[in-house]
Amino acid sequence: MPPPVILNGAQRSEEFVSIDRVIMALIKDKGICIRSTDYSESSQILTFFTLSSGKISLIAKGSRRTKSPFSAPIEICSVADLVYSLRENEKMGTLTEFNPTFFCIGIRKKLLALNAAFFAAELLNLSTKEHDPHPELFEQSVLLLQRLDENPENKVLPFLILFELSLLMYAGSQPLTDICANCKRKFDANWKQYYFSLSSGGLVCRDCEPAFIDKKILPYEAALILNNPQKIFDAQKNSLIQIEKLLIDYMTYVLEKKPRTAQMILQLIRTTV
Ligand SMILES: [Zn+2]
Repeated sequence: MPPPVILNGAQRSEEFVSIDRVIMALIKDKGICIRSTDYSESSQILTFFTLSSGKISLIAKGSRRTKSPFSAPIEICSVADLVYSLRENEKMGTLTEFNPTFFCIGIRKKLLALNAAFFAAELLNLSTKEHDPHPELFEQSVLLLQRLDENPENKVLPFLILFELSLLMYAGSQPLTDICANCKRKFDANWKQYYFSLSSGGLVCRDCEPAFIDKKILPYEAALILNNPQKIFDAQKNSLIQIEKLLIDYMTYVLEKKPRTAQMILQLIRTTV
């Protein structure tokens, strides 16, 4: 067997093609742990959202042993420099190094922030495909974790909503919020009443709403923030809660399943924010 070749995640696919004798590569990347399942007595099967390869599945052999070969416990939402081996034509690689660069210490002390981080991790897992990189979404995800870590609980909802809108954009399901999703009339304050239809994928004006049985009425401020998310930090608490409920409904519609962690977010935003 030829010795493994160490590659950056971004180079991997070209190297596999160009070096025909490489049957195993060691790949360096940055990743966020978005899912963890115990495997046997001592190991974990992990899903990482990585900078260069998108979502990947890795086995961490011995990670649950007292004398783990890894430098730190591998927990959901940890951000780390990774090294993993991957054989050609195999989907699941083997984690060989895990060096955390961000531990979520502040997040783990705050109930809403912690659950928002778990929710974001589940959304990343449900919304992305394996080996389909989105470096900007990776950067946005790390930014969300940093914001949740550093800010008080009353800032969680604005940052979470901004992340959800980014995620929907990168997943190609961005809701239409600058025009009526049906008649294409431009959004403005003269609409008088504002609706959102899950099936039409966006805001719907008063003239069009009777045709959409799934429409939900939206207060002007909630519609305005969807139209211009930069205004989110001036929003009333009620508008933020309405937008978050709407986005959970919309993502459930797009994903065709309700994220498992959504219910806890819905409970916490009523009592914590
Ligand atoms: Zn319309």
